[in-house]
Amino acid sequence: MREALLHIDGRPVPAEDHATMDVVSPVTGRTVARIAHASPGDVDRAVTAARRSFEDRRWRGIAPRERARVLNRAAALLSERVHDLAALETEQIGRPIREMRAQLARLPEWLEYFGAVAQTDRGSVPDVGAGQVNLIRRVPIGVAGLITPWNHPLLITMKKVSVAVAAGNSVVIKPSELGPLVPLELARLLEEAGVPTGVVNVVTGAGATTGRALSEHRGIDKLDVTGGTETGRVIAAEAGRRLIPVTAELGGKAPVIVFDDAPLDDAVAGALFASFIATGQTCVQGSRILVQDTAYDAFLARLLERVGGLRLGDPADTATQIGPLVSAVQRDRVASAVEQARAQGVTVAAGGRVPEDPALAAGQYYLPTILTEVTTSHDIWRQEVFGPVAVVVPFHDEEDAIRLANDADFGLAGSIWTHDTARGLRMVDRLDIGIVWINDHHRVDPASPWGGMKDSGIGSENAIEAFHAYTQMKSTVINTAPSGADWFGTTEPMRYS
Ligand code: NDP
Repeated sequence: MREALLHIDGRPVPAEDHATMDVVSPVTGRTVARIAHASPGDVDRAVTAARRSFEDRRWRGIAPRERARVLNRAAALLSERVHDLAALETEQIGRPIREMRAQLARLPEWLEYFGAVAQTDRGSVPDVGAGQVNLIRRVPIGVAGLITPWNHPLLITMKKVSVAVAAGNSVVIKPSELGPLVPLELARLLEEAGVPTGVVNVVTGAGATTGRALSEHRGIDKLDVTGGTETGRVIAAEAGRRLIPVTAELGGKAPVIVFDDAPLDDAVAGALFASFIATGQTCVQGSRILVQDTAYDAFLARLLERVGGLRLGDPADTATQIGPLVSAVQRDRVASAVEQARAQGVTVAAGGRVPEDPALAAGQYYLPTILTEVTTSHDIWRQEVFGPVAVVVPFHDEEDAIRLANDADFGLAGSIWTHDTARGLRMVDRLDIGIVWINDHHRVDPASPWGGMKDSGIGSENAIEAFHAYTQMKSTVINTAPSGADWFGTTEPMRYS
């Protein structure tokens, strides 16, 4: 069994009271790691170390070009270790190794991209008129508190750390208690590549204690959270009280909108990918599959056939397509959402139960589930299940599809499947959604903004906008007039500027 300590000021340290938590495998039910459970005192040590590193300018004082070199070295180290880190992710959270290898192989791109942005971002000189020159520069914000979930432990930590550090900030990371090991590895790897100690610190522990202590710490200058909408509200309220910026990537209820001109097999493959990758535990999961009524029967028949063929199994096996849910709590949540839908009269067209295979009995497995005969008044239409459950609902035309797709509290992501690009773009215009894919789903890139509307959050990750959100502007105005103005020395009209 692995033992993991906190990472503070470049050193592994136990919690001050030696408290620990167990990380339990969702496949075997056995404890795979024991992690330190950081107290408010430990969080204070981490924030103090980060603050010291920011104040003495050991990292932010380095030229962006040099910071980029370090991040590129980290990217190279990460590429070498993808195989091992993917296996570690799979062991903790039960996501199939095939998914984790594919996902982690792309993560060096975030370090490279934000290293490049740091080097190429420029200030500006707005024209404020004769006699004055205005220089605008961006400077880092300070110490950021990064709070991350368990479903993509390294991807989401990377999305936040790469940009924060590239912009010259120092950070304290609070990963999910269910997937803390790889974020800890990332902190060590960044230091090995040359990020000075104290710049990246990790405090492991529970959200209600360690996470709360971090979000309430007065030494934090920016909060950045990915998690459930209620967690986001609590953290954003704390940021509001302290008047510090917050980025919040929260829940979703993504529609997958299939028009009858989309090739059937492509649309079905796309819907499967949208709904069941990560066993449905993604914020952009295609949980509402909307199908044009003229294609509905054929689509549903093909979808059910494909769902029945999905291979559940040991996530460490490269042939496994669907792993377990992350925990018993998560499986209970999924099962009770499906039971409630059933009780409300929804039809369970596939799945809707725990698999019978005795080989899977020790794990938190749940069959990929398709629900039909769902209306907008059923709870399942609205609630985020965060598991392998999708509803399939017919629509008549574009107007109807837009009405259904926008009928949600969330507005994170969605996809449109059609051969008619003009129609796709018309739909994009009318959807209250932050990320829309046409003939695709789930795609993410460091250069492409990622953020939701409505209850799905505030701000966005990725791209130049996220870099700017990790900086603050400093405006310098220089008087270039040959002689100074004397406001009180005259009664003549003067320009007020
Ligand atoms: P949670 O909201 O339960 O937790 C997210 C993080 O916040 C965890 O590190 C958690 O710690 C911590 N936390 C919990 N309560 C508090 C608190 N009061 N103060 C400070 N920190 C706290 O989400 P999950 O980990 O269960 O992840 C699933 C959710 O994340 C879903 O709603 C999903 O949609 C959303 N998500 C959004 C994404 C996006 O890009 N928009 C991407 C991925 C997920 P701990 O786990 O230790 O309790």
